[in-house]
Amino acid sequence: MYDVITDQHDESDGPAGCGPLLSTDTPDAKPLRQQIFEHVRAHGRAARADITRAIGISAGSATTLTADLIAAGLLREVDGLPRETGRGRPPVALEVVPEARHVIGIKLSDDTHSAVLTDFAGCIVASATLPSSPGRKSLETLLEEMDVLMDLALKEAKMPLSEVSAVGVGMSGIIDHNTGTIAWSPFLNTSDVDLRTAFLARFGVPVHVDNDTNVLSLAELWFGAGRSISDFAVVTIENGVGMGLVLDNRLFRGARGMGLELGHTKVQLDGALCRCGQRGCLEAYLADYALAREAATALDRNPRIPQSTNAMMDTLFTQAKSGNEAARTIFRRAGRYLSVGLSNVIQLFDPGLIILSGERMQYDYLYSNEVLSEMQKLTLSDGRTPCKVEIHAWGGMIWARGATALALEAVTDAALGEARA
Ligand SMILES: [Zn+2]
Repeated sequence: MYDVITDQHDESDGPAGCGPLLSTDTPDAKPLRQQIFEHVRAHGRAARADITRAIGISAGSATTLTADLIAAGLLREVDGLPRETGRGRPPVALEVVPEARHVIGIKLSDDTHSAVLTDFAGCIVASATLPSSPGRKSLETLLEEMDVLMDLALKEAKMPLSEVSAVGVGMSGIIDHNTGTIAWSPFLNTSDVDLRTAFLARFGVPVHVDNDTNVLSLAELWFGAGRSISDFAVVTIENGVGMGLVLDNRLFRGARGMGLELGHTKVQLDGALCRCGQRGCLEAYLADYALAREAATALDRNPRIPQSTNAMMDTLFTQAKSGNEAARTIFRRAGRYLSVGLSNVIQLFDPGLIILSGERMQYDYLYSNEVLSEMQKLTLSDGRTPCKVEIHAWGGMIWARGATALALEAVTDAALGEARA
């Protein structure tokens, strides 16, 4: 009923490509050169004839425009495509010049920050992690931590910061992507922080910031299952329940940078207390802290011996696996609430795919066949094909990779966006 996906591309096969594979339905204001560049990057390698077909331009235009891109140092020729017959020279393909630009993607977190340095083709050059200081911190401290983290990645890549064209940052909170302002974040001790200005002043590199679920959705759009689907939703279950939505190959960001707070949609009037202070939120039945809260009672833990949420979740899972009925009931109930949440998403957006992501996906009770069939039962389908659901068990670096997509998008626009054809 569902597929579990892991990152399986072997980079020794040549570039796999990154970015959305489908062109948007709405004719885009992107100049032709950018469309060509993005087509080549998405496919890893492409021959001029493929470009001509895909973009809908003449062979002559393709030759002129690709010559421009080669002269600009953004594309290069490779003997990369398998020949179709046994005779003649293999057709010349084009690929992105990886070292034309570099970007760093950062995921800030309350326990470990992570960073990925990628080239212009989207391939990982280096990565790093750094334990984060506990609690809310000043902007100064956060910048200091980012400094150390980026330095670790740059050292591994043997590259100075001056060769990095942009940095993308994903973090939880209410974030205005357009202005680079953090209205509120659990990591910061002040509100309305202008990260963009402070980052540029300190590092001399532009930063692009977004909330972490949006960054994860970009990771799916650029590197994951979302590459070949124009409309999909990503639902994450971790400390909270988050959601990202891609419509027509673009991240839907809403009007106020709040992100799509699926976790705080109400599933029960006067229900369980959510950490947001309201009652009956989906998160209050599904998030780590909610399950850990129930686990403490069900497993008869001594409340005087505090256990971390993660440790409690692991115990709960092991207990459920070994047949503890109370532990199973907690997961089963959480699963039913997940079904309600997912069916609401389907009902509202009719996505082509829902990707379930986040660390909790290791707890397979949350995506058992019962959960998915309950989800279908709660959805009006009228005999239509039910919405596909995929589970993604990515490693921790996927968030930082999504943040590289934020930066790659901006750097591509800067390099090619204003060069109108
Ligand atoms: Zn809430």
